[in-house]
Amino acid sequence: MSQNAFYPNLLKPLDLGFTQLKNRVLMGSMHTGLEEEKDGFEKMAAYFSARAKGGVGLMVTGGISPNYRGRLAPFSSQLSSGRHVKKHRIITDAVHEADGKICLQILHGGRYSYHPFNVAPSAIKAPITPFKPKALSSRGVKTTIRHYVRCAKLAQKAGYDGVEVMGSEGYLINQFICQRTNKRTDEWGGSYENRIRFPIEIVKQIREAVGENFIIIYRLSMLDLVDEGSTWEEVVQLGKEIEAAGATIINTGIGWHEARVPTIQTSVPRAAFTWVTQKMREEVNIPLITTNRINTPDVAESILVEGHADMVSMARPFLADPDFVNKAAEGKPENINLCIGCNQACLDHVFKQERATCLVNPRACYETELVASPFEKKKSLAVVGAGPAGMSFALEASKRGHEVTLFEKSNELGGQFNIAKLIPGKEEFNGMLDYFTHQLHESDVVIKSGTVATVEELSNGSFDEVILATGVSPRVPKIEGIDHPKVKTYLDVLKHKEPVGETVAILGAGGIGFDVGEYLTHSGSSTTLRPDTWLKEWGVDKDYENRGGLLDSRKLEPSPRKVIMFQRKESKMGKGLGKTTGWIHRTVLKDKKVEMVTGVQYQKIDDEGLHVLIGEEPRVYPVDNVVLCTGQEPLRELLDGLQEKGITAHLIGGSDVAAELDAKRAIRQGTELALSI
Ligand code: FAD
Ligand code: NAP
Ligand code: SF4
Repeated sequence: MSQNAFYPNLLKPLDLGFTQLKNRVLMGSMHTGLEEEKDGFEKMAAYFSARAKGGVGLMVTGGISPNYRGRLAPFSSQLSSGRHVKKHRIITDAVHEADGKICLQILHGGRYSYHPFNVAPSAIKAPITPFKPKALSSRGVKTTIRHYVRCAKLAQKAGYDGVEVMGSEGYLINQFICQRTNKRTDEWGGSYENRIRFPIEIVKQIREAVGENFIIIYRLSMLDLVDEGSTWEEVVQLGKEIEAAGATIINTGIGWHEARVPTIQTSVPRAAFTWVTQKMREEVNIPLITTNRINTPDVAESILVEGHADMVSMARPFLADPDFVNKAAEGKPENINLCIGCNQACLDHVFKQERATCLVNPRACYETELVASPFEKKKSLAVVGAGPAGMSFALEASKRGHEVTLFEKSNELGGQFNIAKLIPGKEEFNGMLDYFTHQLHESDVVIKSGTVATVEELSNGSFDEVILATGVSPRVPKIEGIDHPKVKTYLDVLKHKEPVGETVAILGAGGIGFDVGEYLTHSGSSTTLRPDTWLKEWGVDKDYENRGGLLDSRKLEPSPRKVIMFQRKESKMGKGLGKTTGWIHRTVLKDKKVEMVTGVQYQKIDDEGLHVLIGEEPRVYPVDNVVLCTGQEPLRELLDGLQEKGITAHLIGGSDVAAELDAKRAIRQGTELALSI
């Protein structure tokens, strides 16, 4: 096989002796929610098959429990009997037909299992679940090991190329390994040798049961990021034992779910944790996979060039673009729809028991459902507004064969995402803008940027239908003194860069209020672009001197100004933020000493500052500026005029409904309309 000219290391085959992977790219395990749906296995077959066709070297399924106690939720999947095998065959057949390879991940939730039948090494409740686990008896431990082995054998029978034993992220195996969760006094607890017996026995017994020609990946928690986690020496000891027990490959696990360090969210620097895999590379001989916040082929290639790992795992990037590898192989990374690390449509969905998909690619996990309706007639379509809604519509409608003209009053495409990308920690949003802009310029769409669309132009007979994707305008609440010069909207601050004083009140604490809070409390370049500073800020110790890889204390950069945030609701501030990211935003603002005031009534704004009532008590905050982040109103001023002229107009994105608008809804709505128009 000839060497790839663009990414020679990433696209080099990996010889495992009994089998060969066509490249160094692993699609990491992701639970999608399809596992539990009606016809879910058929849908998963389409989902995995698309990624196999897209060229990925090896894929891992979402976590499947080896028994019912290990299920993550009451109705989550398990592979524990011959009758489950047939369903899995649907997946493995589809993947092999597409010339791919796939391993099944065996995941026992232990105390993370969200149901009352959960078990763990010791009866210690996890901070992230309400269910206190039952401690496994010594017999129960041995039975559980047998269930892992049974699961691996069934996976082999179902046609999988191997299994991944999930030994990290704080699940059952990790719970055995660490003193934090293992207080046993039998042969499975006490000394480190006793605590790691559980994973070693699992790998050893699986190898005996499945023979030599079957991939066993072990996901090793290389950095627990929790108190009483493993020391580096202990991690190395376990890595060596796992190799000796018969694992084919070791994958990297970073952080328990209960860790208070972000590990994959957009504000985590790219490839922030590959140094730990590199450290392990000096210790074991089998191939190592590195992971976390790797989302471009260039980053992946440089990780391999620098010798951090033998393979690179990316998970969410394959939701964003199933053809990631093929596009890299063609030397066209600009055609890859980039995962921006937002978690909004993937992990946030899974944590709410909803099916995962992707903000930038709503087709992910909807491969068989989000398809075009039969094309009836080529139409001439005008799209007004090139935000996420307008861009996604224009691209899809043009791909279907319609004649599309896209009007954008600004000189740049992307709408409000051009403002979102200015927030420290949201630099990845540039990737979405670059991709959509590039695709539009490559397409047949006629782009009229710097052009305000008018009813006259839209109704001059050139267009069959009009799509209004004109977005929103900031809401200006009716408060006495709202015209005072110290009052600014979030657009004045972020877009127009108007100066802001040393003491600032932010009114409104939705996503934008929190983002403005981060913007105003940050100085210098974003720490997301300074990985070493970021690691110290979150208390991660690259020297690995303490247990869990944590520093004794976090090294925070102070805020350049005093910020006070207000909301009228009594509820906890930031309650509506993303399920898996809200805690990060709340922590950052708490660290920056932002004062949060809930349950206020706004009275007036004057030279003295902001006057509010808290309960019955009047209070004045002597602030230099008041920044309005008080929600948004739909912008659809063209609608009435078009309707009067009898023109068919469709509303998408913010111009349709401004409440709870985000780019996920905007892109999905644009795509759905384009596939049906
Ligand atoms: P918009 O993005 O508002 O685009 C509308 C476009 O229409 C604009 O470009 C405008 O110039 C153009 N236009 C209007 N009138 C005309 C006209 N007459 N002629 C021509 N062009 C016209 N969302 C998320 O999902 N995740 C986030 O983390 C996130 N963070 C954000 C942070 C900030 C600071 C802000 C401000 C927003 C954030 N959002 C986020 C929200 C997200 O950007 C919006 O939900 C999304 O952009 C809405 O898309 P849209 O296409 O409906 O409208
Ligand atoms: P939002 O989430 O609806 O928040 C608006 C805030 O303004 C609320 O805190 C509300 O709190 C307050 N408010 C509403 N009406 C008001 C009024 N008349 N007077 C005074 N205060 C008022 O909207 P947003 O912050 O503008 O964000 C817009 C959208 O962008 C969101 O829906 C969000 O999905 C998206 N976004 C997402 C992210 C993300 O990280 N996922 C980040 C940024 C933006 P009270 O009513 O209690 O005062
Ligand atoms: Fe990536 Fe966001 Fe898509 Fe999840 S929803 S795959 S984080 S872009």
